[in-house]
Amino acid sequence: MTTSREIRLASRPVGTPVAANFAVASVELPAPGAGEVLVRNHWMSVDPYMRGRMYDRPSYVPPFQIGEALQGGAIGEVITSNHADFAPGDLVNSMFGWREAFVAPGAALEKLPAHAGVPTQAFLGVLGMPGLTAWAGLGEIGKPLAGDTVFVSGGAGAVGSVVAQVAKLRGCTVVATAGTDEKCDWLRSVGVDHAINYKTCGNLLEAVRAAVPKGINVYFDNVGGEHLEVAIEMAKPFARLVECGMISGYNAENPVPGPSNIIQVVGKSLMMRGFIVMEFAGLRPQFIAEMTGWIAAGKLKWEETVFEGVEKAPDAFVGLFSGGNTGKMLVKL
Ligand code: NAP
Repeated sequence: MTTSREIRLASRPVGTPVAANFAVASVELPAPGAGEVLVRNHWMSVDPYMRGRMYDRPSYVPPFQIGEALQGGAIGEVITSNHADFAPGDLVNSMFGWREAFVAPGAALEKLPAHAGVPTQAFLGVLGMPGLTAWAGLGEIGKPLAGDTVFVSGGAGAVGSVVAQVAKLRGCTVVATAGTDEKCDWLRSVGVDHAINYKTCGNLLEAVRAAVPKGINVYFDNVGGEHLEVAIEMAKPFARLVECGMISGYNAENPVPGPSNIIQVVGKSLMMRGFIVMEFAGLRPQFIAEMTGWIAAGKLKWEETVFEGVEKAPDAFVGLFSGGNTGKMLVKL
């Protein structure tokens, strides 16, 4: 028997999640059966989309159930294997979420590719789901051309920080927002042309206008709300609005009004397109190849914010909504 602690949803949050919405439970894992593998997690991913799964409503993924462990990305090490593809010591990516250890069919696991010089947890961030979201959302929907101006909100987060840097690598001018001066300094340090602290800038529209008076060709939206209105206002004709996420509304207790200036989508011939990263799963080989090339050449940097211990996962999660992370939010086990 192996003991594992896990984080369960204790109740559905109303508004911003609080500690009481989560519970730590201890479970005894059976020995793996035929075709199964015992994995001990080293890293757990903490992601904003998990908030959506805490509502009991139809969506592109089923809601979390009260009393069950929260599912999500994790990287762990194979301890015991009854599956021919896995051996003890292998590092694997899984979606079994916030647990110290688990037993699962080998078919539900993915062996991590070996990439010298890249820490394991990068496969939950810059080389994982958030990185692919940024790379594919920008490239396949935003389609920036060299010389374009790209505006990205949530610029210092896991997705936004990759969007900002990839846009620079594609020859664009980049304006990015973040919630602290330290995050803005970091954005400048990786080449962002205009970093705006949206909490202290006063009027966000005027701050973006002052930075890029001629307007923007691409907006990569991680935040929604006022940021989206500003992007529509600043959009040049035929600009592309990449709708990746709208975190400013995830904890809203009442319906959030749409952008008051949405009519400009018509007059400026704007394209507004949402997406879920899995749409671009088939592009992973190209994504990994291009990103690892940039990383090896020192052209792509990333930050991570790490909480230690499975019991800290709820704190890490709540922290996403107050800007407690720079780069990828992770829990180390
Ligand atoms: P993240 O940006 O690393 O973390 C969340 C950040 O959002 C916080 O650090 C905070 O930074 C900012 N934030 C929180 N509340 C805010 C508010 N009210 N107004 C403005 N900013 C706020 O998270 P991530 O994993 O990279 O995800 C970024 C976005 O992409 C999220 O909207 C997420 O849902 C979305 N996403 C979508 C897909 C997809 O497939 N479409 C996949 C992954 C992620 P500040 O300090 O700057 O406020």
